[in-house]
Amino acid sequence: MAESQQFKTRKPDLDYYSHNVACRVACPLGTDARGYVVAISEGRYLDAYRIARARNPLASVCGRACSAPCEDACNRRNIDAPVSIRDLKTFVCQQLGPEALVDSHYGLELSTASGSAHPEPNGMSVAVVGAGPAGLTLSHDLARLGYRCVVFEEKNRAGGQLCAMPESVLPAAVLQAEVDAIGLLGVELRLAQKIGREALGELESQFDAAVLASGHPGPHVDAPSTFVAGNAAIGPEPFIYAMANAQQVARQVHEHLTAQTLEERTCRALTPIPLPAYRMPVNWDVYPRQKPERMTEPVEVMLSYPEVVAQQQGARCLRCDINTVFDADACTMCGLCVEICPEQVIAMVPGAQVRAGAGHVAVLLKDDSKCTRCGLCARICLEDAISMQALEHVEEITCHTRVK
Ligand code: SF4
Ligand code: SF4
Repeated sequence: MAESQQFKTRKPDLDYYSHNVACRVACPLGTDARGYVVAISEGRYLDAYRIARARNPLASVCGRACSAPCEDACNRRNIDAPVSIRDLKTFVCQQLGPEALVDSHYGLELSTASGSAHPEPNGMSVAVVGAGPAGLTLSHDLARLGYRCVVFEEKNRAGGQLCAMPESVLPAAVLQAEVDAIGLLGVELRLAQKIGREALGELESQFDAAVLASGHPGPHVDAPSTFVAGNAAIGPEPFIYAMANAQQVARQVHEHLTAQTLEERTCRALTPIPLPAYRMPVNWDVYPRQKPERMTEPVEVMLSYPEVVAQQQGARCLRCDINTVFDADACTMCGLCVEICPEQVIAMVPGAQVRAGAGHVAVLLKDDSKCTRCGLCARICLEDAISMQALEHVEEITCHTRVK
């Protein structure tokens, strides 16, 4: 680091540590990719599927076709190449997602048990126009809140823009399996039904609310109980953003119809990990990023990772929820951590380079985006001023409601 360099610094707090988990922050749905990647590396596939599916009703589709902003953000890219987050999601969905129903009823049970079991009907109904990613997501979320949802789709197949994807990217059977799983929540799909201005007016009188989720401007949207979802799908935006928008609109519909608001809570805490027990995953640095093999005959399809390869790919995760927490009062600025860090992510710089007029002679800076969580700095510190601490980050977005 050059003497004259000025640094953009931040004193770590819980917000900061949360943002270290770059894959989760980057996912428009807030999926804890770290959680399922680590679970796969440890052979905990049921946990992995639950995490991958918890916030994403189209997890199997996303495993094949999402633009994967989580991988663009993955901190492992700063070491060599991002973790194969999306292909690992496919690995676990192929075993436990709705597409696994062909081989096992377990897959379907799980896909409905992971937060989407049949809810109590709340007596209200919503018409959804468009069965693309936004319409499917929205009807899934509303069905989980107890709404009777009827989805009107002008084509004779559900999926919208997803139907245009080649079989080699998104097999039609995978898409259909996810549509069917949403249907199991009681969502009714009416195909080959184009909804024009007149028909929309009728829907508004027959249902408690109507949502235009067709991905293009609707015929009429200024009625008080008519909403628009998935606008982000217009233009080149990847469909995952339309899904995120649809989830927000589902909440707006619920708030509008019930005068209640959904409660979302984030619970976070740091837990110290005893150093003698702290270990990085075996061979975390040995395996290169690897794509699953593809089969080209009779049609081109992506094969699943063999189990051992999936676990190796999962072990590449740096586990960005684990943090080196520095105790400024205990630190004597001896510089041992700076010397030992193999990634050279800790630096000791004059305080003035961080803040004009800083009183300290020197300060320690750390670039967490390149830290591999090896723990060497914590082990070498003579003053026990560095501890390894795991961040627990739990988000609850359940049907729990509170009156405004
Ligand atoms: S290294 Fe692991 S925890 Fe860190 S961003 Fe990548 S997948 Fe997420
Ligand atoms: S844990 Fe400490 S020594 Fe290891 S890479 Fe991170 S900062 Fe460097």
